[in-house]
Amino acid sequence: MNIQEKISLKDFTTFRIGGPARYFCTVKNEDELIEAVSFSKKKKIPFFVLGGGSNLLVSDEGFPGIVIKMEMEGVTFSDDGTVTAFAGENWDKLVEQTVDRGLYGLENLSLIPGTVGATPVQNIGAYGSEVKDTIESVHVLDVLKDEYKDLSNTDCKFSYRNSVFKEDPRRYIVISVTFGLKKDGKINAQYKDVQEHFTFKKIKEPTLKQMREAIIEIRRRKLPDVKDYGTAGSFFKNVIVSTSKAQELVAKYPEMIVHPVNDKKVKIPVAWILDNLCGFRGVKKGNVGTYKNQALVIINTGNATAAEIIALAQKMVDGVYEKTGIEIEPEVEYVI
Ligand code: NAP
Repeated sequence: MNIQEKISLKDFTTFRIGGPARYFCTVKNEDELIEAVSFSKKKKIPFFVLGGGSNLLVSDEGFPGIVIKMEMEGVTFSDDGTVTAFAGENWDKLVEQTVDRGLYGLENLSLIPGTVGATPVQNIGAYGSEVKDTIESVHVLDVLKDEYKDLSNTDCKFSYRNSVFKEDPRRYIVISVTFGLKKDGKINAQYKDVQEHFTFKKIKEPTLKQMREAIIEIRRRKLPDVKDYGTAGSFFKNVIVSTSKAQELVAKYPEMIVHPVNDKKVKIPVAWILDNLCGFRGVKKGNVGTYKNQALVIINTGNATAAEIIALAQKMVDGVYEKTGIEIEPEVEYVI
């Protein structure tokens, strides 16, 4: 395995921002992964595992340790609907293959950028599905104990855009993920955008393929193409607040959209607050801005630095706090 030095990380992230990695390597199998982790232990430097780079903001100074680019590939389909994919596989290609085989479970997560290995880390979710709903187990390298392990769905401690991998970021490296998919599943078309899409297309009972096509069409309309702008998608997580906090806000802003999670908690779309209360949709300042169709998405319109992105993000945090008293948190991971 070839360990390179001072490799710019800019071209490895969809934000197209970031300084150099002190050391950089790509790993295609478990032996190379062990070698890379040993290197970091021997040199007493941190490691960072890079997948598609689609949810990252790398600092302008770069990363002082070793960046391990995960390129382990391979997918196995079993007759019972179980699918195991290595961490370096492209996520949307996997979703496409499952839909082509008539397997239900991943279709609402179509077109999410990035690799399979990143999906359990932040428990990716979209249009009423979360990847935790289909994950059976995650095969990992436990860096602390120097051993391979299979973590069950429960071991992964999944919650809203969160997991044990995010809570304890240097402990596990995801090697492969096993999904339990259904041959006779049901379509989940509950989200407004999806319902409107099928009403417009006059489709009463969408097929699995039509569901994937719908998600692709909706996402293409609402989210920027990374070919046009550097971006890491939604920059902030949506917020979950107590029912009483939500009632207080709805009394102040009657048109505010809220989605009950259970009888104690309510989810509030941060994009709505940023757009309607703070006027942050489609803003542009220097080399950074927010996308014209989605205020949660920060974009690099030119040659932005990480510092410029962070300055805009801080203004958005302050704006939301001023209007609502809510402290929003980044969904994007900072690499410093
Ligand atoms: P949207 O559909 O307008 O929804 C905005 C917010 O309201 C989200 O927090 C969503 O929760 C919630 N919501 C909407 N309808 C809901 C329902 N029927 N029941 C419960 N909660 C509901 O948002 P959007 O920006 O156009 O995004 C569409 C989907 O793609 C969302 O699921 C969003 O999370 C996902 N997405 C993720 C990223 C990313 O980078 N992580 C980027 C773009 C979109 P959920 O977030 O739980 O769905």
